[in-house]
Amino acid sequence: MYPLKTIYVTSPFGWRTHPILEVLRYHTGVDLRARTPMKTFAIDAGCITEINHDTTHAYGKYIMILHANGYSSFYAHLSRIDACVGDKVKRGQAIGLTGNTGKYSTAAHLHFGVTKGSTVGTSDWVNPLEYLERLKEEEYMQETIITLQKKDGSCHDLNGQIYKGITLAPVRAIGEALGCRVDYDPVTKYVTIIEEEVK
Ligand SMILES: [Zn+2]
Repeated sequence: MYPLKTIYVTSPFGWRTHPILEVLRYHTGVDLRARTPMKTFAIDAGCITEINHDTTHAYGKYIMILHANGYSSFYAHLSRIDACVGDKVKRGQAIGLTGNTGKYSTAAHLHFGVTKGSTVGTSDWVNPLEYLERLKEEEYMQETIITLQKKDGSCHDLNGQIYKGITLAPVRAIGEALGCRVDYDPVTKYVTIIEEEVK
């Protein structure tokens, strides 16, 4: 799920010459074109951990959303915020409107970032476009039940996923279902039972 209905990157993630300060600065996210106020969407389900109106620094009005995987998404220079700290949001939920707030915003746009922290102060920014690609792949995944049958005929169900036609199950879950330790060899693609659990 993209933070805007369609995205067009006007400034990439990483080191760049700052358009106003004219010094080499680290760009903590990507700038997305939004010349007029555009609905901004939560890229994934999560909980709002921070809302602020940063008038002294670059970000202006911003929202931080913490997701279940420990990453947070960040939306800045907003003109309007339609959420509160502590709110649980769904994937694709409208959370505000883009704008031009903040000291170092040259023109209306959305600054969008992804970080390993849950606040701006403790952030560890990652490339948000790569993150969105990974998220899109996860959206293709379908939940499924995998039934394992032991030699004695007994069956065990475990949760797996179907991704692009391939059924996936974590090796550890297979081990837990069978009550033993298992090992996976990525070369031979075989799962080996290391030891039967002693009962
Ligand atoms: Zn930016």
